[in-house]
Amino acid sequence: MRQQNKYNQKVLISQEQIQESVHAMGERIAADYGDDPLTIIGCLKGSFIFMADLVRAIPRPLHIDFIEVSSYGNELSSSGNVRIVKDFKHPVQDSHVLIVEDIVDTGLTFDFLFEHIRLKKPTSLEIAALLVRSTVDLKKRPVKYHGFTIGEEYVVGYGLDAAGLYRNLNHVAVFEQ
Ligand code: 5GP
Repeated sequence: MRQQNKYNQKVLISQEQIQESVHAMGERIAADYGDDPLTIIGCLKGSFIFMADLVRAIPRPLHIDFIEVSSYGNELSSSGNVRIVKDFKHPVQDSHVLIVEDIVDTGLTFDFLFEHIRLKKPTSLEIAALLVRSTVDLKKRPVKYHGFTIGEEYVVGYGLDAAGLYRNLNHVAVFEQ
């Protein structure tokens, strides 16, 4: 049976599924990086809840910073342009860096962040995303850690919005206009 939330939206990924996946991802990240310096850069705004849960699932010291980029505005399709609204500050030259994104959709944000941070010469650079669309070519855009693969539906919740709303849902739901 279809599970609906209180806004009559279809629940695509439940709170329990998310928590299980984020916990496993955190354990994997901790094991992969060992004791090496690691900086986690969350991409605002969509990643803020995922980021908060993920960093607490990584049982080791971390540097945490944020970058805010804009590509979508309020409409539901990509504008094709990514620009920095707020840059991160932490020096990353001698640190491994893990970028945290909410969803890799077209991959334009992935490309932009990768190039922007690569120029600061981190020891290594990888991406963790809660969601990846099935259309993303993972050979071209290797998302090292990802929680769930989704289709073409526009989703909200767990940090993701529709016109600024629904970020505070504790699950991921399908948004229909
Ligand atoms: P990309 O650059 O990969 O096309 O898009 C990345 C950004 O677009 C994400 O960080 C997210 O903010 C936004 N985005 C893409 N698909 C969705 C979606 O289904 N729902 C929401 N709320 N945002 C999306």
